[in-house]
Amino acid sequence: EKPIHVIGGGLAGSEAAWQIAQHGHPVVLHEMRPHRKTDAHQTDGLAELVCSNSFRSDDAENNAVGMLHAELRMANSLIMHAADKHQVPAGGALAVDREGFSKSVEAALQEHPLIEIRREEVPGLPPVDWGSTIIATGPLTSPALSEDILKHTETDALAFFDAIAPIVHKDSIDMDVAWYQSRYDKVGPGGTGKDYINCPLSKEQYEAFIDALIAGEKTSFKDWEENTPYFDGCLPIEVMAERGRETLRHGPLKPMGLTNAHNPDVKPYAVVQLRQDNALGTLYNMVGFQTKLKYGAQTDVFRLIPGLENAQFARLGGLHRNTFLNSPKVLNEQLKLKAAPHVRFAGQITGCEGYVESTAVGCMAGLFAVHERMNKTIDLPPATSAMGAILNHITGGHISRNDAEGPRSFQPMNINFGLLPPLEEMPKTVDGKRLRGKEKTRAKKQEMSRLGREAFQKWISEVGH
Ligand code: FAD
Repeated sequence: EKPIHVIGGGLAGSEAAWQIAQHGHPVVLHEMRPHRKTDAHQTDGLAELVCSNSFRSDDAENNAVGMLHAELRMANSLIMHAADKHQVPAGGALAVDREGFSKSVEAALQEHPLIEIRREEVPGLPPVDWGSTIIATGPLTSPALSEDILKHTETDALAFFDAIAPIVHKDSIDMDVAWYQSRYDKVGPGGTGKDYINCPLSKEQYEAFIDALIAGEKTSFKDWEENTPYFDGCLPIEVMAERGRETLRHGPLKPMGLTNAHNPDVKPYAVVQLRQDNALGTLYNMVGFQTKLKYGAQTDVFRLIPGLENAQFARLGGLHRNTFLNSPKVLNEQLKLKAAPHVRFAGQITGCEGYVESTAVGCMAGLFAVHERMNKTIDLPPATSAMGAILNHITGGHISRNDAEGPRSFQPMNINFGLLPPLEEMPKTVDGKRLRGKEKTRAKKQEMSRLGREAFQKWISEVGH
């Protein structure tokens, strides 16, 4: 049997290759590292996490990304299996030891009898005689391939910049000032309620920090990069600060649910949180501190934070390119490139956002390719499921767009309940009363997640392994 080619051994490509092989079909997985590197990857490993080590909330009942975790587990996802195996404590989030995680994904693919891994760059769209191919080359797709995609699509594939957060050596944090606590003492899987290191700021310290952040020297943008949008969830900290002096205090530096263990009577004005970054617990990343400040400015500004006066940085924050397709225009509902239908796309390059979302699109692309190979039709994942919702965001899928409203401007997005269809019937209290406010929002999410996961389970049991 002719192999199905997967280009890019990141999160999406690894998942797609796994799904295809587990369904009994041969795969050739092409990964350009180590021969050609990207601006963000630091290792040669497959499925390397380029920034945060968190897969975000693991709460399937109340959170859309938690719901997506659950669906991926139902689909026997390799990425979720490896994440579960290499979990580190992180409150209600699923965070992983990045090295153990990547090694375990690579080993599973290497040992699979139906998978061949080739360490080479594919510098352009694959020729038709390769047959079925999935391109999952991510936000840092090599320039040669990007250019060739552009040539074939003749449309507006965009490039924009994204920032990564610094990582600090734990033993350089002053624990006489900082303390361990998860927000609201939340105990998540493998956690203790004390998973984060917290650094308190008084009003004066906060104001001085904001001033320094805004004044700090930034990496300059080239003209054409000037108007490029960031991922909403990954805004550079100084860009957030520039939007308003209080923005950070209501965002990543919010003090809610945290009590200074060294001084319980004084409520901190703002709190900087650091989250465990490796299994050993020796490294902590600064939550929400992705930045385009120059390296020198970063050490100066971040050492103003109480507890981090002598911080040693294992990695400073930085800026990276991101490439994604105008998918609603160029892809069909099964992720095929309309201009070259032997090619499917998967992962972040399709305009989803995030590790888990990229994995989910890899999973779907793999399943679609398998069914095509077997000459079988496959229904799209249910619109009520989180996977269906992502697919709808990318390709339009189930949703018929109203063209009278003009062309839709397409932006990458994380999974969220807003991408799911509204409930037909609102949940009520046990005695049949209408819910209001926060209670209503919570009940709505729980019901959407329950129905979506149920529908997904039915779908995957029909189309899955
Ligand atoms: P990747 O994981 O990047 O995998 C693509 C692979 O393809 C790479 O291994 C690359 O080497 C290879 N490749 C590229 N071109 C070729 C070619 N021509 N031939 C062969 N191989 C090729 N998401 C989060 O959820 N949390 C975060 O904190 C986060 N931070 C990010 C920070 C940065 C700087 C960037 C750029 C993105 C970040 N993202 C984050 C977004 C996104 O979820 C990740 O980039 C994720 O890794 C995307 O998965 P992927 O499989 O699509 O791409």
